[in-house]
Amino acid sequence: MILSGKDISEKRLESLKEEIENSGLNPCLATVIVGNDPASQMYVRMKHRACDRVGIKSAGVELPEEVTTSEVVEAVSKLNADPSVHGILVQLPLPKQVDTEAVIESVSPEKDVDGFHPYNIGQLFSGRPQFVPCTPGGIMTLFNEYGIELSGKKAVVVGRSVDVGRPMAALLINADATVTVCHSRTKDLEAEMKEADILVSAIGKARFVKEEMVKEGAVVIDVGINYDENGNLCGDIDFDTVSKKSSAITPVPGGVGPMTIATLMENTLKSAKYHADLQN
Ligand code: NDP
Repeated sequence: MILSGKDISEKRLESLKEEIENSGLNPCLATVIVGNDPASQMYVRMKHRACDRVGIKSAGVELPEEVTTSEVVEAVSKLNADPSVHGILVQLPLPKQVDTEAVIESVSPEKDVDGFHPYNIGQLFSGRPQFVPCTPGGIMTLFNEYGIELSGKKAVVVGRSVDVGRPMAALLINADATVTVCHSRTKDLEAEMKEADILVSAIGKARFVKEEMVKEGAVVIDVGINYDENGNLCGDIDFDTVSKKSSAITPVPGGVGPMTIATLMENTLKSAKYHADLQN
C-alpha cells in the first residue's frame, strides 16, 4: 500500500478551507525568513501558497543575512504582540551568527505553530501535546487516515533531531508503540531496523535504507529529502526494493512533505480558534 501524503493532504486542505470559510475566523500565519537561501525561500513560498489556498492570511517578514539575534527576536516580539497574527513560523536554518535557540524561545508558545518551543516540546513529551511539530504530526495523520494500528507495535525512528526524530518518538510513545530511537552512534543499526513493525527514517541520506534492513510487512515512513548522484529527488529509503517487502510505504515526493504543510495549516487554525476563545 502506498501511503499518499499528496492525496491525504489534498483532502485535509479541502476540509480545512471549508471549515475556515464557515468559522468566521481570520486566521493569520506570519513567516520570518532571514537571508536569501533558495531552499528556505522555496519552503516559505510553498507555505504562503497553502495559506492562500485554504483562506489563511499570510504575512512575511524578511530580514537581511547579516541580522543579529536581537533583531530577529525583536521582529518575533512584534508578531507575538500583534493580535491579528495567530501563528509564527521562523524558517530554519538561521545564519551562524544568530542564536537559533534564543529565537525559537522568543516565539510565544501560544503562537508556536511549528511546535519547536521548549514549552510545546515538553508538553508533547509529557503526553499532553498542544502544538506538535508539523512533520511528525503529519505522519501521525497519515497513520490515522490509513488505519495503521500503532498500539503495542515496535517502532524504530532513525534520526534524533528536535524537529523530526525526537517529537516523532514522543508521538509514537503517546500512541502506545514501543519505541527505539537510532542515530549515527547506534551500534547495529541494521539489527534495530529489522525489528521494526513501524520504521520512520529521518536521516537525510539518499536511498540509505535497503531491502535487507527492513522487516517483511513493515510500515515504512520516509522523511528524507535528498538528491542522488544524478540530481534526482529521493528519500532515505530505496523505494523500488523496500516497497516490495513493506506492507505500506510513503513515496518521495508525495509522501511526508505535503503532510508537513497541511499540518502547519491545521496548527494555524487551531491557534486562531484558541485566541478567539480567549477573547470570548
Ligand atoms: P538532521 O540532520 O537534524 O538529523 C539527522 C539525523 O540522522 C541525526 O540524528 C543523525 O544522527 C542521524 N543520522 C545521520 N546519518 C546517520 C547514519 N548513517 N546512521 C544513523 N543515523 C544517522 O536532519 P532532520 O531530522 O532535520 O531531517 C532529516 C531528513 O528529513 C532530511 O533529509 C531533511 O531534508 C528531511 N526533512 C523532511 C521534511 C519533510 O517535510 N518531508 C521536514 C524536515 C526534514 P546524530 O544525531 O548522531 O548526528
